[in-house]
Amino acid sequence: MSRPDLRARVESARAQREQEGLLRRPRTVELMADGHRLVDGRALVDFCGNDYLGLARHPDLIAALTRAASVDGVGSGAAHLVSGHRGEHAALEEELADWTGRQRAVLFSTGVMANLGALQALLGAGSPPGRGDALCVQDRLNHASLIDGAQLAGAELRRYPHADADAAARQLDARPDHPALLATDGVFSMDGDIAPLDRIADLAEHYGAITMVDDAHASGVLGERGSGTVSHYGLYGRWDIQVGTLSKAIGAVGGYVACSHKLRQLMEHRARPLLFSTSHPPSVTATCIAALDLLMSDEGQMLIERLWENTRLFKSGLATLGFNTGISQTPITPVIIGEGARAMQFSDQLFAAGVFAQGIAFPTVARDKGRVRTIVSAAHSRGDLEEALNIFESVGRAMDLI
Ligand code: PMP
Repeated sequence: MSRPDLRARVESARAQREQEGLLRRPRTVELMADGHRLVDGRALVDFCGNDYLGLARHPDLIAALTRAASVDGVGSGAAHLVSGHRGEHAALEEELADWTGRQRAVLFSTGVMANLGALQALLGAGSPPGRGDALCVQDRLNHASLIDGAQLAGAELRRYPHADADAAARQLDARPDHPALLATDGVFSMDGDIAPLDRIADLAEHYGAITMVDDAHASGVLGERGSGTVSHYGLYGRWDIQVGTLSKAIGAVGGYVACSHKLRQLMEHRARPLLFSTSHPPSVTATCIAALDLLMSDEGQMLIERLWENTRLFKSGLATLGFNTGISQTPITPVIIGEGARAMQFSDQLFAAGVFAQGIAFPTVARDKGRVRTIVSAAHSRGDLEEALNIFESVGRAMDLI
C-alpha cells in the first residue's frame, strides 16, 4: 500500500479555501496619531482591535514599559519556575488576584496558553497520561483554546448548544461517573453576548463540578472596575477559575488564571505552557501593572464608561439602519450577513470606503452566519462612530443588505 501524500493534502486544503473565496489576507497595519489605522496606504476607522479602553498607547503604560526595560532589560531569560519569575511578575500576580477577588493568580505568556495550561493541569490531574476519565462540558461557541485545552488533556469533551444551561445539565447527567469541569467564555467573541454564569454556577454546585470562565472579552469591560463576569454576576465565592487576557483591554500581552492557592500549586506542577515557556519580559509585566493601576483610578472608570457609551451609540446606530446585530450585549457587535463569501465582500467594500471591520466565515462561525464583526473602543471619538455608521449605510445599501 502506498503512503498517502501529506503535501498533496496540505495543498488541496489550501486550494479549497481559495476556490471558496475564503482565503484570509493578513494586512499590515500602522496606527496614526488620530487613532485611525493606516492600512495599505488608506486611513480607516478601526473596528477590528481588542484594545477596548485604548490603553495600548496610553502614556502611563508606555512610560512604565520603557522605565522597566531600561532597568531590567528586554527579556526574562527563563521560565517562571526556573529563574524567570521577577519582582514585577510577583507584583502583577498579586494585583490580578486582588482585582479578581481571588487568593492567587498565575501569569501565562498569552490567554491561549492560560486556557491550555489550566485545563490540562486540572482535567488530567490524578490519572495516568492519556487515560484520564474527566469530563469537560463546554458551550458550543467557546474559544478555540478551551476546546484545544480539553482535547490536549485527553478529557472527554461534550459541548452544549450555545448558552443552554439545561443542555449542559443533560451532558452531566449522561456521564454520572466522571469528574467534571464546566467551561465557558464569559463574553462570546463572535456574538458579544454574556454567558449565563449564574445558572452554570447553580449547575456546578448541584453536580459537584469545577467552574472555569474565559474572560478574555470581559476583563476590563464588565464587572466592578472591569474585573470580569464573576463580578458582573456577583458570584464571588461560587466560581472556581477565572481566566483572562492582558492582550485586549489591558493593552499589552499575556494571560492569567485567577484561582485558589491550591489550584495555583497544582498548576505549578502540571501546566505545561507555564513550566516550559519563558516568562514575560519584566517590562511587559510592569506595563500591565500600570494598566491595572489605571483601572483602579478615576480615569480608568471614565474610560470604562466611555467604552459603554460608545457601545450603545454604535449598536443602536447599526440596528436603526436595519442591520442584524444578533444577540450582542457588549462592545462586540456582529453584523450578520449570512453566506461567508458575501460577508467577506461586505468587509472588503467597507474597507474600500474607510472602515476596517473583519469578515468572519465558516469554520469560525456557522456556514449561514457569516458576518462582519465590529468592536468598539473607548478610543473611538463620536466623529469616528458617525463616520463609520454613514459608511455602513452606504455600503449596506449598495450591496442590498439593508
Ligand atoms: N479567549 C478568547 C475568548 C479570545 O477571544 C482570545 C483572543 N482571541 C483568547 C482567549 C486568547 O487571548 P490571547 O490573545 O491573550 O492569547
